[in-house]
Amino acid sequence: MQLEKRWNEITQKSFKKDLAKCTNKQVYESLLTLVKEKLSETKPIGGDKKIYYISAEFLIGKLLSNNLINLGIYEEVKDILTKAGKDINVIEEIEPEPSLGNGGLGRLAACFLDSIATLGLPGAGIGLNYHFGLFKQVFTDKLQDAQKNDWIQKKSWLTKTDVTFPIEFGDYTVTSRMYDIDVVGYENGVNKLHLFDLETVDESIVKDGINFDKEDIEKNLTLFLYPDDSDEAGNLLRIYQQYFMVASGARLVLKEMKENGYDLHKLYEHAVIQINDTHPTMVIPELIRILVYEEDFTMSEAIEVVSRTCAYTNHTILAEALEKWPLKYLQKVVPQLVPIIKELDRRVALKYKDKKVQIIDKDGRVHMAHIDIHYGFSVNGVAAIHTEILKDTELNHFYKIYPEKFNNKTNGITFRRWLLACNKELTALISETIGDGFKKNADELEKLLAFENDSAFLDRLWEIKQDKKKELAAYIEKKEGITLDTNSIYDIQIKRLHEYKRQQMNALYIIHKYLEIRAGKKPVRPITFIFGAKAAPAYVIAKDIIHLILVMQEIIANDPKVSPYLKVVMVENYNVTYAEKLIPACDISEQISLASKEASGTGNMKFMLNGAVTLGTSDGANVEIGELVGKDNIYIFGKKSETVIKHYKKADYVSRDYYEKSPVIKEAVDFIVSRKALKAGHKENLKRLYNELLNKDWFMTLLDLEDYIKTKDKMFADYENQEKWKKMMLHNIAKAGFFSSDRTIAEYNRDIWKLR
Ligand SMILES: *Cc1c(COP(=O)(O)O)cnc(C)c1O
Repeated sequence: MQLEKRWNEITQKSFKKDLAKCTNKQVYESLLTLVKEKLSETKPIGGDKKIYYISAEFLIGKLLSNNLINLGIYEEVKDILTKAGKDINVIEEIEPEPSLGNGGLGRLAACFLDSIATLGLPGAGIGLNYHFGLFKQVFTDKLQDAQKNDWIQKKSWLTKTDVTFPIEFGDYTVTSRMYDIDVVGYENGVNKLHLFDLETVDESIVKDGINFDKEDIEKNLTLFLYPDDSDEAGNLLRIYQQYFMVASGARLVLKEMKENGYDLHKLYEHAVIQINDTHPTMVIPELIRILVYEEDFTMSEAIEVVSRTCAYTNHTILAEALEKWPLKYLQKVVPQLVPIIKELDRRVALKYKDKKVQIIDKDGRVHMAHIDIHYGFSVNGVAAIHTEILKDTELNHFYKIYPEKFNNKTNGITFRRWLLACNKELTALISETIGDGFKKNADELEKLLAFENDSAFLDRLWEIKQDKKKELAAYIEKKEGITLDTNSIYDIQIKRLHEYKRQQMNALYIIHKYLEIRAGKKPVRPITFIFGAKAAPAYVIAKDIIHLILVMQEIIANDPKVSPYLKVVMVENYNVTYAEKLIPACDISEQISLASKEASGTGNMKFMLNGAVTLGTSDGANVEIGELVGKDNIYIFGKKSETVIKHYKKADYVSRDYYEKSPVIKEAVDFIVSRKALKAGHKENLKRLYNELLNKDWFMTLLDLEDYIKTKDKMFADYENQEKWKKMMLHNIAKAGFFSSDRTIAEYNRDIWKLR
């Protein structure tokens, strides 16, 4: 009642009318005001040690629904809206999705903030307030086109603060300003996400698409996440961004320590800085620099204190993703850090002769991860197999020096967003069946196993899946203008586009199926293949793979012989909002990365939690999913990581051999440059992709293609055994508790952060 009264006061004040008379936009804006007010009245989480999670990305998604759920007012707000003749789902749609991340790494940071607050741990996120974020994807002529994503509106979750810091670069000084977003835990207090921005940023310098003057730092610094780094100016801009982020963050940490009267010599007793991948690495030399030059620490003291404060999370073993900045670039952007980095390197060289562990290599490049490992107290991988690969191969030289620093923290997802918010029907069914305990203690989902032979329960599970499939069909119809067959199997692959994730293998399966149907072999049930993926604008082959998928989408849609059985939909601008619609509707979750390459994956966890069955390789967290659900409830195929790693070591994988050996592979690959494909698509793109697969195929698509086809066909056949399929759904949901980010964060705290 109080809430409703206050809400009407707000609409009266802002729009001079009652809620029922407001437009949907006005309803959204007044609700935003109301919720922000509520958040400001919720207790801040306090304590004498704080975790600062510093990350280039925070892929937070829309916040309204989650805030309502975590504040415990979702139902009340929904009822007030219903009474006023409004639909909460329509109101939620109005919020623009913040564009502050790219993929799993950024989404992980967002899930972690939710869990840190839910567990009542004092913490803050530190990042940048990108005005246009990651680009917005549109398809033009079956090609990806990148546009600016201007998500920031006058009324938003951002709150401008009066905290500013001067940030010095080699050639000038700028002012950084802090913006805050409240992060409320589930039935708990509030932490902050701090996003730093530059006052002088000028959005108007972005003319066509996402092009702008990369050298005009004072106008472009916080415009885009991951600006194109295919040239020197792009590399320099990324370094400017990274330093701006960490220098602002370091200032904030020290300011808070001083305000609390803590002795900076005991910094590590009151602060822990988790470095999310290598992008924020410069926080280490920056803190050391400040302590030495402004706080009268000796170099050794500063190094000791900072090393005991900082911890590093590794997210990848892909060589190209481990940043190595040329010293001369750092000299230009942040000359003040260069002597510190050289000193850090000198100390390493004195102690360890092994060239592989030096910070500055013979070509004058600074290996950022090496700074993190030598001068942080913890190094963690993000899934069991990933951490083992780090210890055994990629970072083996470091593991030998510092075995005690290495630890695993298998990723997780927040169930508030990926179950409670996105699948209210399933949440209600689970609550009805085993009570509400799972919302705070995800392991309680295991209680569902007792219902394995309860046909009434299994039928409900199935019905909910069918309802979510219909909802998705309606959404895709509206967004893409494509009609889905809701009786078909939904087979979904949604994730960043990258050759290691092997969307191209899925595309080759589709070609194979298409050719089979053309030859008269029809599937028992229609299949819908759904893709969602953005390709980095400078990643040519990734964009060619998108092109191939869109070409197949068109060829199949226009072929009356095949279209009753197959449909391909690549949705435009895949993001968190889209994921929240796709995941609850999924039957088959595609997790088909080349074994050893996907550090963890978190999409796989979201799907399982919503009752999809995984089709995957022995990679990342798929391995742990398989151990939990057992081999009867997952479809694993393909070569194991040991085999793959050996192929790389011996350089003996030759894709052409696989192509020539297998008529099925040959036929599918050849189709890419067939008359039919070239008529629908562009010769340049298709030819290039064909040549890549045949002559390079660095991520070994053809190695696993036959096994993939076999396993996927088995899965489609098994789907017809609905009794079996429903049980698989149940097992996947029941065993998903381990993947709650509450568990992950509890482990980070127990082993690394040690907040009380
Ligand atoms: C979860 C998520 C990801 C990560 O997906 P993976 O399959 O683990 O790569 C990427 N993007 C969005 C929008 C997500 O929600």
